[in-house]
Amino acid sequence: MRAPVLFRPKEPLRVLELELDPPKAGEVTVRLAASGVCHTCLHVMDGSLQGIRMPTVLGDEGAGIISAVGPGVTDVVVGDHVIISWAPACGRCRQCANGRPALCESRPPQGMLGDGTVRLHHEGADVYHFSVAAYGTETVLPVSCVVPIRKDMPLDLAALIGCSVATGVGAVVNTARVPAGAAVAVFGCGGIGLNVVQGARLAGANPIVAVDVSPTKLDVARAFGATHLVDATRGDVASQIERLWPTGIDFSFVTIGRQDTMDAAWGCLAPAGSCVVLGRMASGVQMTIDPNRLYGFENRLLGSRYGSVRPLDDFPRLVDLYLAGRLMLEELVTRRYAIEEAQEAHRALAAGELARGLIVHAV
Ligand SMILES: [Zn+2]
Ligand SMILES: [Zn+2]
Repeated sequence: MRAPVLFRPKEPLRVLELELDPPKAGEVTVRLAASGVCHTCLHVMDGSLQGIRMPTVLGDEGAGIISAVGPGVTDVVVGDHVIISWAPACGRCRQCANGRPALCESRPPQGMLGDGTVRLHHEGADVYHFSVAAYGTETVLPVSCVVPIRKDMPLDLAALIGCSVATGVGAVVNTARVPAGAAVAVFGCGGIGLNVVQGARLAGANPIVAVDVSPTKLDVARAFGATHLVDATRGDVASQIERLWPTGIDFSFVTIGRQDTMDAAWGCLAPAGSCVVLGRMASGVQMTIDPNRLYGFENRLLGSRYGSVRPLDDFPRLVDLYLAGRLMLEELVTRRYAIEEAQEAHRALAAGELARGLIVHAV
C-alpha cells in the first residue's frame, strides 16, 4: 500500500510504499476510496498538536471497501462498503453502555492499535497510525471503527460523513439538541462549521448566524443555510451579532481554537443560552469564563467530541439524508487531490482555501 508519511512536524509529507500487516483478531482491512483532509491532521503537521508518535500516517476521515477480515470478525464481510469512525469503542465500558461510544474509556495507546502494536512498517521499521491512518490506500482498524453503508452511496462523499459531517451535524442534533426556532451562531465556516450550519438548518433553527473572516466562506455558509452573515474583520463580533439579533443567541458553536473567538461565542449568548465547543484545538489554547454569567443567566458551556456521535446509528441515517437530497456533501468539496498532492492539500487548507479537500484513491 502507499501512504503520505510524516516523519517530523513541519517537514513535507513523503508518499511511500509501506508494508501493511494483515488484520489481527477483531480487526479489518479497508481499501480506501477517499480521505478527507482534516484540520486535526494539519495541527499534527505544523506541530501545534503535540505528543504524536512519528513517523506516522495521518487521516481521520475516510470511506472504502472491506478487503480483509481478521479472526473472529463476523459483523462485516469482504466487499462491504464502510464509513470509517475514528473513535474505537469497546461496547462494554460505562460510556459505551450509556450510548456515548465517542467517549469510550478503553482507548488504544496513541499511534497504535488496541494490542499496543502497529500494522504499518517502512523497510521493517514501525510506522504509527495517527487516528485511523485514513490517508493511505489501505488501513487496518478494529471492527468497531467501520460502519457498513448502502452500496448506492458514492464512497468519496461518504468519507466526509466520518469526521466533518458527524462532528458538525452531531454537535447540533446530538450534543446540543437544538430545537426548531432556536437562535444559532456558528463561529468559523470551514469543513466543521459548514456542517454545524447545515445541522442547524436540518434542526429548523432560526436565525442561523455564520461568522468568519473570509467573505468566500460566508457565501458558502449562506448556501448551507445561514440566514445572517457576520464578517469578523469588521469590528467586534458580539456587538455585530447583537445588532442582528438583539434578544441573543440560544446556541453558539465554536469551531476555531482562538481565545477571542471563544470569548465572542460566550459573550453573545441569551439567558439560558449554551456555548458548544467542538473540534480539536491546538495544545495550550485557553478560554475565560465569567462565573457570574453562570449564576446570573444560567449560561451553559458544552463540550462536543465527534458530535457525540453513535456511528452505527448516525452514519447510515446521514447517508439516507444525503440520498434523500437533504444533506449537502458535494458542495463541501472544494477540490479533489491525488495521493501525491497530499502536501499541497494541507497547504491549501492552512491558507483557508478549502472547505474540504478530498484525497481520492483508485479502488
Ligand atoms: Zn477530522
Ligand atoms: Zn467503551
